[in-house]
Amino acid sequence: MAGILIPLLVSLTFASLARGDAASPQANDPKYRLPLEAVPMEYNLYLTVNMDSYTFSGIMQATITATNDSRTITLNSKNLTINSVHMTNSTNQTQDLIKTIVLDDKYEILTINLPEKIVKNEKYVLTIEYNGTLNDQLRGFYRSSSTKKDGTPTYVAATHFEPTGARLAFPCWDEPAIKAPFKIFVINSKAKEYRAISNMNEIKSKLLSNTTEDTWRFTEFEVTPPMSTYLVAFVVSDYEYTEDKSKEMQFRVWTKPQSINQTRYALRLGRQLLEAMEAYTAIKFSNYMPKMDQVSLRNFSAGAMENWGLVTYRESALLTEDNDTVAQRMRVTTVIAHEFAHQYFGNLVSPQWWTYIWLNEGFADYFEYFLTHKVKPEWRLDELFVVNNIQGVSFAADVLENQRPMNHEVNTPQGISNLFDNIAYQKSGSVIRMMSHILGEEDFQKSLNRYLTSNQLKAANSNILLRQLGNGRNYSGVSFEEIMDNWVNKPGYPVVTVKKVNNTFELQQQQFRLYEPTIYVTNNNKTKWWVPVSYVTSKNMSFNNTHPRGWLAPNKEKLVIPVSGEEEWIIVNVKQAGYYRVNYEPAIWESLSKLLNSKNYDVHPTNRAQLIDDALTMARINWLDYKIALELMTFLTRERDYVVWQASFRHLQFLHNLLRTSEYYTMFQVHACLLHDKN
Ligand SMILES: [Zn+2]
Repeated sequence: MAGILIPLLVSLTFASLARGDAASPQANDPKYRLPLEAVPMEYNLYLTVNMDSYTFSGIMQATITATNDSRTITLNSKNLTINSVHMTNSTNQTQDLIKTIVLDDKYEILTINLPEKIVKNEKYVLTIEYNGTLNDQLRGFYRSSSTKKDGTPTYVAATHFEPTGARLAFPCWDEPAIKAPFKIFVINSKAKEYRAISNMNEIKSKLLSNTTEDTWRFTEFEVTPPMSTYLVAFVVSDYEYTEDKSKEMQFRVWTKPQSINQTRYALRLGRQLLEAMEAYTAIKFSNYMPKMDQVSLRNFSAGAMENWGLVTYRESALLTEDNDTVAQRMRVTTVIAHEFAHQYFGNLVSPQWWTYIWLNEGFADYFEYFLTHKVKPEWRLDELFVVNNIQGVSFAADVLENQRPMNHEVNTPQGISNLFDNIAYQKSGSVIRMMSHILGEEDFQKSLNRYLTSNQLKAANSNILLRQLGNGRNYSGVSFEEIMDNWVNKPGYPVVTVKKVNNTFELQQQQFRLYEPTIYVTNNNKTKWWVPVSYVTSKNMSFNNTHPRGWLAPNKEKLVIPVSGEEEWIIVNVKQAGYYRVNYEPAIWESLSKLLNSKNYDVHPTNRAQLIDDALTMARINWLDYKIALELMTFLTRERDYVVWQASFRHLQFLHNLLRTSEYYTMFQVHACLLHDKN
């Protein structure tokens, strides 16, 4: 799922609300989890959708296997009226079980109490008939407003199931690890205007007539690969589509008829992005899915949703105008890249539980930038990742009091929804990028192929990923899994402090805190990490080597880097490949300031942005004199690189907000104008 583009402050407010719920004792209540006395082998889903009354009825028929001898069968259901429940055993005896069911609204669970035990390893067919209403809540099976060609208002019916919405459309085992193939049939009214699409290709679509002489359409879809319930999707609409027929695999973009001309960009770039993802993973999308449909919806809760083979978007995240700005194009491109990354990270390999949602959203966040970079290198999203994703969002969110770690168990539906936060997206994307630099890009890519291939159509967790990535490697005797342990299981991140001692640079780490830093300094009970250390000095200006040249170990006080003695400065964390900040002793900051303000400086733009961001942040928490930080900033008078300015704007904005009611505001204005003037 891609988030809505919202200002950082707002998203941080959401994040803090999320922590409140996730941290509450009820959030882990195990009663929200299914006991799994039986698991589905396959689903047949028959849906009848009335586009006049905005209601639907369904038959969910699942072939199940008992995992235990049990007197109950438990599955998820919410806001559905259950009309009948039948179960057939292997000798074709059918029992009517409607009188035995108990619906628990709090836990969203439907329990079927059986007169006789189901027997371990035996197969049964469970058939549930039910009906429901197309809601206006933008989740489950809902209606989204639209406009007909002649301008009259209308609705389309669409689904949004992630994370716990499938149970609003059909009773099911609504947990991501419980995968099964789905065979879907849709019957819809207003058959002449409306038609259904789903994850798979339609096998047939034909008009039916019923007694009221209204016309109904019957559409049958191919059976899906084994998949999680939250990725099932269907849309019933009067939409039109454009199609890219250049390749064998069907590729379409759907929208309301009057917007059809706004789909061309998504059609062209979408195909390129999917092919780039196939090339990167070395796994053909069509091995699992026969087609890709992208659909724009006016009413949408997130930015987009990665339903396998049927990706849905809010209109602004998919449709483009000819006169759109580059920023708008970038938004559409990165959202498509995000959703197409999910076709692998999430859809092909799903998280065992929402604890590991970062295996979906972290990779989608990472590829949002790095997949887009492959098709639009001129946008330099590989570098913008550092200033926007790490500095702009993750570093700010990951210092909040009681912030959660990447792996974080929650069981309530609300708690699960709240896990889709800056930690699941931006922090995890940043840590994944760090992994790629520790392993090296080539090894990282190969390991991801192994991870996807060996876990295809199954569910994975954090350890499985780290084991695949590590592949038995160790660093100074420490395994990759151990190195990554605190990064994925502890909140926060380190600040590395650097000072020069004789012919060495000495590095130490502590957990970075934006607030109450003085309390923090005296408190040693904070997390320490395995910090990968890369660096350049005046003697070695190789900004291309982001491989760790040393490790700052959690159990050691410091890392000593011997140098010749002539080096006046060192820049630690090349291209900010590691997920951490760096602070230098004042003398080194002053040397770096001199370097940046000298005629022939040759510091990589990402590190120029890093130095601005770290210096101004250290000044903000009183670790560095503002005089040094602002002096360092004066190199901006000659700076013409967008990436560096992007980092600078954020800090100028902060100072603007801080000072605008103070007596120093005029001085700040003069300083800020000077920085911009000579450009
Ligand atoms: Zn996502």
